[in-house]
Amino acid sequence: MTEVEQAKKWLSDADAIIVTAGNGFAQEEGLDILSEENFDNNFGEIAEKYDVHTIGDALDKKFDSWGEQWAFWSELINQYTLNYVPSENVGNLKKLLDDKQYFIATSTFARYFENSGFNPNRIFDVFGDWTTMQCSSGVNHGQKSDIEVVKNFIKAKETGADLESLVPKCEICNSEMEIHMPLNAHFFPDTDANARLRWFLTANEDKKVVVLELGVDETSPQLLDPMISLVDQFPNWHYITADLKKEDLPDNIQKKSAVLNSDVHNLLKQLTE
Ligand SMILES: [Zn+2]
Repeated sequence: MTEVEQAKKWLSDADAIIVTAGNGFAQEEGLDILSEENFDNNFGEIAEKYDVHTIGDALDKKFDSWGEQWAFWSELINQYTLNYVPSENVGNLKKLLDDKQYFIATSTFARYFENSGFNPNRIFDVFGDWTTMQCSSGVNHGQKSDIEVVKNFIKAKETGADLESLVPKCEICNSEMEIHMPLNAHFFPDTDANARLRWFLTANEDKKVVVLELGVDETSPQLLDPMISLVDQFPNWHYITADLKKEDLPDNIQKKSAVLNSDVHNLLKQLTE
């Protein structure tokens, strides 16, 4: 049996599928936070002022004013989430998960899975979600949607409205709000979604489970080693990886793994053909 045939068999036999989706998945949906291509063209002023040349570096940067910060965040959220059109990969993943119990753990933060119609109760955005915002005080004052804020900032580009007056404030302490991502030391993960994932893992320990890795790399280690160690631990679990190599996996996992030496796009295509 070829690796693809093996992978297909494990998937069709599986009681449950756990998808881990990282930076490689986001790249194919159009958002490459590590790429220098086009950043300086799209964000010339920011690039020059703060000497940042990728979206990732720019997200890590504290800007001089909240207005400027929100204007930049709004551009990104508008472009990569509000105007998001799912790729062929998403359609193929839907086919794979169609009649299965599944859970998606992802370090992507642009709401691809929620906005493509996957069950929101079966998704854990481990790095948060930039369409929600949190208080910047360092105290957990909850999270709420920032979509209206984003729309107002986009509108302000035409009306010339005062950006500082559009900056959202915390309803409890009046501090400025910031996007819900681990950009500083006080990021509060979604504990409900994390608990749902833990329940899902526990409930499926003895079942036939496939962990399907879609573009997870060193930018999200929490989706890599812990998952591999679960596959190691439970006899009926298998691992299918888009882009890892055999030698990247521990010896005892290799026989429980299908390694396609491919990329997210080709993997999903091969598995659904
Ligand atoms: Zn607050």
